[in-house]
Amino acid sequence: MKRTWDLCLAGKWVRNCDTFEVRSPFDGSVVAEVSRASRAQTDEAAGLAVKAFETTRTLSGFDRSRILEAASAAIARRAEELSRVMSLEAGKTLRDSRVEVARASNTFKVAAEEARRIGGEYLPLDWIQHSEGRFGITRRFPLGPVLAITPFNFPLNLVAHKVAPALAAGNPVVVKPASSTPLCALALAEILLEAGLPPEAVSVIPCPGSMAEPMVADERFKLFSFTGSVEVGWRLKSLAGKKRVTLELGGNAAAVVDRDIELEPVVEKCVRGAFANAGQICISIQRIFVHRDVYEPFVQLLVTRTRKLVLGDPLEEATDVGPMIDLASAEKTESWVREALAGGARALTGAARRGTMYEPTVLVDARPDMKVSCSEVFAPVVVVAPFSDMDEAFERVNDSAFGLQAGVFTRSLEHALRAFERLEVGGVVLNDAPTYRVDHMPYGGVKDSGFGREGLKYAIEEMTELKLLAVNSRG
Ligand code: NAP
Repeated sequence: MKRTWDLCLAGKWVRNCDTFEVRSPFDGSVVAEVSRASRAQTDEAAGLAVKAFETTRTLSGFDRSRILEAASAAIARRAEELSRVMSLEAGKTLRDSRVEVARASNTFKVAAEEARRIGGEYLPLDWIQHSEGRFGITRRFPLGPVLAITPFNFPLNLVAHKVAPALAAGNPVVVKPASSTPLCALALAEILLEAGLPPEAVSVIPCPGSMAEPMVADERFKLFSFTGSVEVGWRLKSLAGKKRVTLELGGNAAAVVDRDIELEPVVEKCVRGAFANAGQICISIQRIFVHRDVYEPFVQLLVTRTRKLVLGDPLEEATDVGPMIDLASAEKTESWVREALAGGARALTGAARRGTMYEPTVLVDARPDMKVSCSEVFAPVVVVAPFSDMDEAFERVNDSAFGLQAGVFTRSLEHALRAFERLEVGGVVLNDAPTYRVDHMPYGGVKDSGFGREGLKYAIEEMTELKLLAVNSRG
């Protein structure tokens, strides 16, 4: 693996004297040294993207698709190397990194397909008198330079979810990756350039978040796509001016377990949904509401299964749960859990920190107003509570500032349909964890969790402008 990474400015690799270290969240060792973009370079990236748009807007569907297809294949070819880089920089278990890399390859594959499908509509316009012989054609045109700011927790696939649709639509893209995990994004730039992308169409410019603020305000970008925390996301939206904004923010996702369901497979899904990537997933299960009739056996099974999880070195094949991204995050988790325990909650397992590692934790008797319930915990901590009827469960799911996805385990068609109707979220997942995501589905949140949708086709819609040609065929 490369130990020194240059930044990518409109396809050119640039080495700066000013560098920063990327460290392993597991043992603190230095993984790589990365060139830090200067303010002048972030500004230059915007200008170069504007120039690049003259090229990207004219690329044929065939060319855009071919480049994205080649990128997909290259990600698959370099899967093992990318997975190791990801595990080193993000502390993600090697098993989970492999899954993310495979998903990123698929994200580009789907983008390659969608690049050919950006069609339009024929509209009869002769619906009113004196409009005889008129019709319209709609077509989606690329918007222009896209600015993407991405988080640490999916350092490749969440970059892919912005870069792939931007390129599929014919837009250049500038990526500011998370400072703790810039390596996968830089590797992706390498892959795109090798895949034949016009070099000027992509920049990856690692820099501190605060330095990226002027870019968010920069009118040369036509769309700002942000994935990250609620606090940062909404603040940046207020700086974004007239450009379009997509916000993919946080949540405290819930699962509802009805009384008519076989518990063991549900517990298995909940354990994975709550503790994968050490709970650092925006749709990680944070709250589980279980029907009172099956609450006790459910909790027992959940605790037994959680205790079997192997916590440790993300590079070990046997590890189920790795470290959190940094010490501050693990310490914040520790303090939130302590606060809950002091307020009357009980930990049935976990509730202990070892450096950056936090043990998978199951809490009961937590009040809804405790931080572990109502704020985004973003850690391997899950709160379980009983309910008496489904409407009460749905109310409790909705009793949240957030709304990304919710999972509902039930055999009742009536309960399933009511969940779809009532739950205030971007997606309801039936008989699986809210953590379920396949990359072409529309994905995004309501309420504080953001707005706009990703999932290639939907992101392409956001990244293109609908234009109408009104034709007078008798003119
Ligand atoms: P974060 O702290 O908000 O950072 C996200 C990105 O924003 C990073 O690149 C960060 O740069 C940058 N940033 C921070 N302050 C900035 C500023 N003032 N101006 C411009 N950019 C700024 O989030 P995170 O801790 O990396 O990620 C975790 C959060 O992301 C969680 O809340 C999670 O729920 C959310 N998330 C949401 C989704 C979704 O699809 N809805 C998916 C994954 C994660 P630095 O790294 O340099 O600070």
